Amino acid sequence: MTSPALALAKSAAGVDRLSNAGIGRGKQLLKKILSSRGRRTVENTLVPYNEILEAVYEVAQQGELLFNVHPETGVRDAGNRAYQNAMSFLTELTLNRPLYEAFTRLDVKTKDAETRHAVFKILRDFKRAGVDKDDSTRARIKKLNEEITAVGSEFDRNINDDVRSIEIEDAQALDGLPGDYIASHPKKDGTIRITTNYPDALPVFQYAKNEEVRRRLQWEFLNRGYPKNMEVLDRLLVKRNELARLLGYKNYAAYVTEDKMIGSETAAGEFVEKISKASGPRTKRDYQVLLEQKRKQSPFAERLEPWDPSFYIERVRAEKYQFSSQEARPYFQFERVRDGIFGITGRLFGVHYRRVRGAPAWHESVEVYDAYDDGTRLGRFYLDLHPRPGKFNHAAAFPLVVGLRGVQLPQAALVCNFLDPKTTKGPALMEHNDVVTFFHEFGHLLHDIFSGGARWMKTSMGDIEWDFVEAPSQMLEEWARRPEGLQSFATHHETGKPIPREMVDRMERAQAFARGLLVRRQIFFAALSLNYYNRDPKEIDTTALAKKLNSEYYPVPWYDGTHFQCNFGHLNGYSAVYYTYMWSLVIAKDLFTPFQKKKSIINPTQARKYRRTILEPGSARPAAKMVREYLGRPPKFDAFRSWLNEGGAR
Ligand SMILES: [Zn+2]
Repeated sequence: MTSPALALAKSAAGVDRLSNAGIGRGKQLLKKILSSRGRRTVENTLVPYNEILEAVYEVAQQGELLFNVHPETGVRDAGNRAYQNAMSFLTELTLNRPLYEAFTRLDVKTKDAETRHAVFKILRDFKRAGVDKDDSTRARIKKLNEEITAVGSEFDRNINDDVRSIEIEDAQALDGLPGDYIASHPKKDGTIRITTNYPDALPVFQYAKNEEVRRRLQWEFLNRGYPKNMEVLDRLLVKRNELARLLGYKNYAAYVTEDKMIGSETAAGEFVEKISKASGPRTKRDYQVLLEQKRKQSPFAERLEPWDPSFYIERVRAEKYQFSSQEARPYFQFERVRDGIFGITGRLFGVHYRRVRGAPAWHESVEVYDAYDDGTRLGRFYLDLHPRPGKFNHAAAFPLVVGLRGVQLPQAALVCNFLDPKTTKGPALMEHNDVVTFFHEFGHLLHDIFSGGARWMKTSMGDIEWDFVEAPSQMLEEWARRPEGLQSFATHHETGKPIPREMVDRMERAQAFARGLLVRRQIFFAALSLNYYNRDPKEIDTTALAKKLNSEYYPVPWYDGTHFQCNFGHLNGYSAVYYTYMWSLVIAKDLFTPFQKKKSIINPTQARKYRRTILEPGSARPAAKMVREYLGRPPKFDAFRSWLNEGGAR
């Protein structure tokens, strides 16, 4: 097993040394490709190019991991440096004219399909980067790319740095919030301070009975990044538009959708409309139920206000569906959930996982496992699942080493923030939401591991269409939601009894409530992301356009005077393609349908077919082809539609 040396480095100097070595190796290989004379062959062009990507992606990926998980600030900073340097070298590569010309002279017509697809993507990416433009245009493109990265970071930083707060004088204003929340927010100098940080703010939106408190906090929450990001966002839109025009596209949305499954900005727009239409009737009913709930408290309320939805959704779930997420927790003890995921995925995919004790990692709490198929080792993964200071505070899977057939096995890390059994008093009992997140991220991890037999970096899982990548992870969530999946591992931490079917049903119904409204909110985000990028930015007043789209897609009114676009971080990272989440979800629901038709959803035959046709190929073929082969038919919208309407008639 190759060691992911950079991810295991113990000092900033060690990270810098390995990073320089990796990028240095890339530069040497580049020289070698460019200096080779005569006919272009796979051996003198594609093979060394593949080795460049191998060396430099390891620096980028492992640097990014360290930046997110290492306990020491110095090493985290070095990880970020490594990541930035690697990415900047990769951008230069795609604008390297002699390298591009070498590839245009490489004839792969007689080679295997995977090799042909790799070269097709390499040439496409060169062109999309603008390699065939003249020198001055290429210089401008390079400069624009750098500026976009810088403006994007400015946008993100302004959001992260703008932590706002409200002060409350009367402790009664926190009525409705859980006891541990109230206990951790004592009065200081006569007031209670609530910040806009998620763990602080979200419970207030969900539970605070006092409308004025929710309203005041929502105001601050929706104004994070304002006013600074108004101008920054305008600049980001202008620069991306200029880049797209220079590259020969109508606008940035046209550019960024071209290499996705969806294929064009028009198709993305149509997709948004399709979901919007499909969710219309359900959204109306959801809204009506929420308004009725509100009228129990405020008989003359005419509409839901921007600070209302989370609160009344919680009320309906508790009152009408009699479900509180607290009652399921005893069935979700951390260790049992982890072993449950191992058990279910092991049975489904015919694999097992073996703990590797004593294997090095970046922190002592990280558990290392090898995955086996019979006696054959498939790859290694690192579970870094509990919070600690300075660690990334969401959940994600990070690839560390890309698996390549005959060269190296894949390695990946799962980074989450679940309750730590070592520090909790009593058993670590998870919320069901966290259980679903665990399955989701494990879905990404398995995709990394099972696709470890790629021939080329450009056909590995990392190069898959961006709007497909969430489908396998969203599909694995099904086993954490369906009664059969849950009952196979969710057992009471004291009695050992499986979670009652009746409780699972109640939980499912409660969670299905307001699905239309929540989908519509996502569609509003998708429309916003697309419409900011599909026109001349000079015509855009970002607030006016956001307000208009809000009124078209989301029945809860825009909060006048607030500026959500200033804190919608995806406008940088995802640019025009926020639709990808929903697109992947539609596919995930469809991919799951063959399991639903079987007697049991724990069906190894079906799962192995899925592994073979969807997960193992990585990005050796277009995702649409894989989906079609697996389903034996073109993809359908039906499964998503019935999910959307589940429980809606109640
Ligand atoms: Zn994901």
